[in-house]
Amino acid sequence: MHHPTPEFPAHLEALYRQFPFDRSLAQDPLSCVRPLASDPAAAEVAGIFAATLAIGNVTAIRGAFADLGRRVDQDFAALGEPRGGRRYRSALRTFRHRWIRGDQLAFLAGQVGRLRHEHGSLGELFRSGLEEGGFAHGLDRLARGLRGNGTNRGPRGYRVLFPSPLDGAHSPCKRETLYVRWMSRTGFPDLGVWTGVPSADLRIPLDLHVHWIAYHLGLTHRRSRNWATVEEVTAALRQVDPVDPIKYDFVLCHTGISGDCPKERDMRVCGPCVVRPDCLLWRPRRGAS
Ligand code: SF4
Repeated sequence: MHHPTPEFPAHLEALYRQFPFDRSLAQDPLSCVRPLASDPAAAEVAGIFAATLAIGNVTAIRGAFADLGRRVDQDFAALGEPRGGRRYRSALRTFRHRWIRGDQLAFLAGQVGRLRHEHGSLGELFRSGLEEGGFAHGLDRLARGLRGNGTNRGPRGYRVLFPSPLDGAHSPCKRETLYVRWMSRTGFPDLGVWTGVPSADLRIPLDLHVHWIAYHLGLTHRRSRNWATVEEVTAALRQVDPVDPIKYDFVLCHTGISGDCPKERDMRVCGPCVVRPDCLLWRPRRGAS
């Protein structure tokens, strides 16, 4: 079993403090939503679309979000109104990003409008579940709400865009967890437009980069990217910062995205890496003299 060194909290904090946030923020889908931070309604609507589109490389994601913005005249508050789905259906018809289609986004707009009308905001819906049963229940309530109600199951392939931690498939629910981080955390670079969701309750958005580095730093022993791994990595980060464990997510993720971590032993890159003493690739092998 691989465990971090006792100095790991100091190493991780050093990585955080020296991280070039400005460089990496330009390479993050959150940069699409940050200009709306002063308008919580527009930010929460734009955020769920940006998070839903967060598949593939960031240039394509930013391009897809810009395309969406043009199609709705940059009026994300209107897109999240009860009639938003119907109003923009034809404008969205030819939209494509990877396997996500415009008819799915129009249906999503309809669900967002309905939920905001019924609950006041997506944040209130999430918070109701959080207060009743914890983070997974909050995410479950959000996911089930976005999937739609009644017998209308939405366009082909729509419902799978919104997995729940309480589903049998045990998805890591990366994009929804990322969305909740964006909306709830008040620390930079997140928006903090939702109130009543303590940072201590958040869970790590476990993408491939975060999983790789979390595994190699000994924050999890799980090879599978599922909800159990999300809980394990979050619990390990809580040992470092119980109040705001997810503040390290951006840094861990962009260490991988930026190429700062080559994901192999390469002394030219790994030499100055402050978490190298904790990295499995550089720890002495058992039995080695
Ligand atoms: S030591 Fe190298 S491989 Fe390990 S985390 Fe740092 S940069 Fe990545």
